[in-house]
Amino acid sequence: MVTRADVVVVGGGAMGSAAAWQLARRGREVTLLERFGPGHTQGASHGASRNFNLSYGEDTYLSLLHEALPLWRELEAESGVTVLDQVGLANHGANPAFDAVASALPTYGFDASFLTPEEAGERWPGIRFDGRVLFTPQAGRLDADAAVSALQRAAAARGAVVRHHSRVVAIRVVSDESVLVDVQPVDPISGEPAGAVETLDARRVVVTLGAWTSKLLGSSVPSIALPRLVVTQEQPAHFAVRDTTLTWPGFNHAPNPVDPSYDYWYSGVYGMFTPGQGVKAGWHGVGAVVDPDARTFVSEPAQLAALRRYAREWLPGADPDDFVEISCTYTTTPDSNFVVDSVGPVSVGAGFSGHGFKFTPSIGRILADLVDGTGPAPALFSLAAAR
Ligand SMILES: Cc1cc2nc3c(=O)[nH]c(=O)nc-3n(C[C@H](O)[C@H](O)[C@H](O)COP(=O)(O)OP(=O)(O)OC[C@H]3O[C@@H](n4cnc5c(N)ncnc54)[C@H](O)[C@@H]3O)c2cc1C
Repeated sequence: MVTRADVVVVGGGAMGSAAAWQLARRGREVTLLERFGPGHTQGASHGASRNFNLSYGEDTYLSLLHEALPLWRELEAESGVTVLDQVGLANHGANPAFDAVASALPTYGFDASFLTPEEAGERWPGIRFDGRVLFTPQAGRLDADAAVSALQRAAAARGAVVRHHSRVVAIRVVSDESVLVDVQPVDPISGEPAGAVETLDARRVVVTLGAWTSKLLGSSVPSIALPRLVVTQEQPAHFAVRDTTLTWPGFNHAPNPVDPSYDYWYSGVYGMFTPGQGVKAGWHGVGAVVDPDARTFVSEPAQLAALRRYAREWLPGADPDDFVEISCTYTTTPDSNFVVDSVGPVSVGAGFSGHGFKFTPSIGRILADLVDGTGPAPALFSLAAAR
């Protein structure tokens, strides 16, 4: 059976849900297809915390953050759900970009100030600060689970059809006005195919498949020349707090590359306090390369041990022996810049490289513009960009 549709969004994580919301707000007839159930933990957009980190020096990212902050508030107003808590973010360690970031932020209406490690330690005794601290007060924590469900509910409230347990098995471009999308319904419990494949004949398709992008889009829409996308299984953890009265900013900690006491570090560390779960800390983009359909969901022991050592040495307010592991996917491009572009009737949003969540509503707006032909994506995200 073939059903005609206007805009079909394939993949209901953060980016697909934001595209559906932005398109529905414009009165587009949108169908969002998600393979798993609401709140699933198979991809990159689950969990109760993400850093709304403002510490970028690049204009493309700063202008998207400037746009995202009011959009997150609009989503909250529309859905009645709070998703962003501006607890601020403290950057410390040997990061040579601090001055450039501190001078770029005010151009976009964001404050930035430097604190001594003593001043910061007094304010946030749960963290041992490493040199001067670049503090951005308008930064904060996003509740990823709440945000994704709010986006889907807000899109549905504006007429979008949100279908979970709907696995897209093929995408075929027929013409500039027709893309055939084959959808296999799956059993919510077993995940096995349940019923006949249905084909949607869409005028426009948005593909936001996260870790599955190369697998499905790479094989079925050759006209979209994706850059190499590396899927990794990342393994941060929540550490119990020792004192529940402590307040915590989000944090980023950069290692000192010439100091051997940082040799056990796998990368810089990011983190934040997650209400009810503790202090989250994680290495960035160094997880095992995986096939998203064949994951272990088990932490690599050496990396976990190193993360616990980090907590022992740098998070005095956290208990390194009382922790809960997290498993999540990054889909990383060669330069960690996103892929947001379109070819004919197909638009794609992929390769968010472990730092996309904060930009979600703005990425949704760009994808809606691409569908409507009302604006190009930033050159930095183009499929043609040299990476
Ligand atoms: C551990 C971790 C920490 C992070 N921390 C931060 C942070 O602090 N700040 C920040 O800004 N960003 C952070 N990120 C990055 C951010 O979470 C991601 O960039 C973002 O969630 C990517 O969203 P997505 O929609 O592209 O991917 P996903 O959420 O993975 O969405 C893809 C969707 O496609 C669906 N799908 C797959 N195959 C099919 C199919 N065949 N048919 C239908 N649907 C399908 C999947 O089920 C999934 O729901 C972090 C990511 C991780 C993993």
